[in-house]
Amino acid sequence: MELIIERTKPGRRGYSLPKQDVPLYRLPENQRRQTHAPLPEVSEPEIMRHFVNLSTMNHHVDKNFYPLGSCTMKYNPKINEELVRLSGFTKLHPLGSTATAQGAMQLMYELGDYLKAIVNLDGITLQPAAGAQGEFTAISMFKAYYNKKKETRRSILVPDSAHGTNPASVNFSGFRPLTLPSNEKGLVDIEKLTELMTPEVAGLMLTNPNTLGLFEKNIMQITDIVHDKGGLVYLDGANLNALLGITRPGDMGFDAVHFNLHKTFSTPHGGGGPGSGPVAVTKMLAPFLPAPVIAKKDETYYFDFDLPDSIGKVQTFYGNFLVMVKAYTFFRIVGHEGLRQISKSAILNANYIIQSLKDHYYLPFPGYCMHEGVLSGRKLKERGLRTLDVAKRLLDYGLHAPTVYFPLIVSEALMIEPTDSESKETLDAFIETMIKILEEARENPEVLKNAPQSTPVRRLDEIKAIKELKIRWKT
Ligand SMILES: *Cc1c(COP(=O)(O)O)cnc(C)c1O
Repeated sequence: MELIIERTKPGRRGYSLPKQDVPLYRLPENQRRQTHAPLPEVSEPEIMRHFVNLSTMNHHVDKNFYPLGSCTMKYNPKINEELVRLSGFTKLHPLGSTATAQGAMQLMYELGDYLKAIVNLDGITLQPAAGAQGEFTAISMFKAYYNKKKETRRSILVPDSAHGTNPASVNFSGFRPLTLPSNEKGLVDIEKLTELMTPEVAGLMLTNPNTLGLFEKNIMQITDIVHDKGGLVYLDGANLNALLGITRPGDMGFDAVHFNLHKTFSTPHGGGGPGSGPVAVTKMLAPFLPAPVIAKKDETYYFDFDLPDSIGKVQTFYGNFLVMVKAYTFFRIVGHEGLRQISKSAILNANYIIQSLKDHYYLPFPGYCMHEGVLSGRKLKERGLRTLDVAKRLLDYGLHAPTVYFPLIVSEALMIEPTDSESKETLDAFIETMIKILEEARENPEVLKNAPQSTPVRRLDEIKAIKELKIRWKT
């Protein structure tokens, strides 16, 4: 039989599919454009090249190593992207009834169960759209808990090494942040904690491992001190990549924890989004969870709004649902044993880098770290150079810079988080480059001062960009 291929006639803007009559999308005749919009004509190869070139002007995990500390820029499986594009997920209407969204409800319910098991806590909300919003949600629940008990507590302790979102969330939730100083080892100063934990303090927000990558060895004593004074303890779970399958915050005495699904559980999140910051809490705090919570009865999933003590909704509709799909997929790929392996590899990788670089740079808090470590570039000052110059020079070698100048308690901080997914070859290449940059600093410091040379834009005045924000490039 002869095969006849009918050739589609090229339209004004290239080949188009045969026209289908879809009455729903038809605008009334008098509202339709009479002439074509003056759009530039470009061919498929041209447009592909344009977008591929644009995509390589920025750094991303698919391009090279991304050791940004406190961010867990890890392996983002490509199957995640396929699954979030399934029409059953993308075409869910946020106002549709839960009867037509049972699959999505089941996914969220089971994701909640996995997360609760990881931290050994009892209640969960998936609503918050970021770690910071998770913090706000949990600390607002602390507030509701004390209001219910008719206790007036005014402040929350926050270590001086904490992420900036911690004191901000405390403020937003109607408390005052009280700074808890770290001791000479970079850990919670137990004496200071005992002294500051008065009956007017509502509790403690802690990151563990902390932002120096150090595990709070006295964690049981710390949570006991706070609980003995009637306080509550919150875990900033951004560093959960160090704990998976090894230990559980619920066993350490934490009352609430947020997850950063976009960090620990594989969603690309450079440039500020999208995120998801579920919060898990103890049985005692569960009545204060944002309404609704996802519940299940006789194999049917539903939204339970019957929470009289709830702090109320914190996010529209389901929260950032597709980030949840990615986290769920990730769990199903790696399984329980895989999670444990992730944390062990993350810890090993971080120590490999820090131990290899500590004599070249400076390690302010000696000893082993967890999934990230903090070096200091203070020795560079002798040559009139700073940590920022190292960070910028790394860009010339096609690498992303580590986090710099955070945590604030380390001068000239270089916070490195290699994550679990990098090979020894990648780590070695980074270590070699970091050592090479020090050689350049000795022999030709100008190279560092003038870096980066190879990026589409050079050193930017970030402060000016914030203060004089111009979002239009044409006037
Ligand atoms: C990233 C991070 C946060 C905030 O999380 P977002 O999802 O960016 O809002 C809070 N604490 C620590 C330690 C973090 O690294």
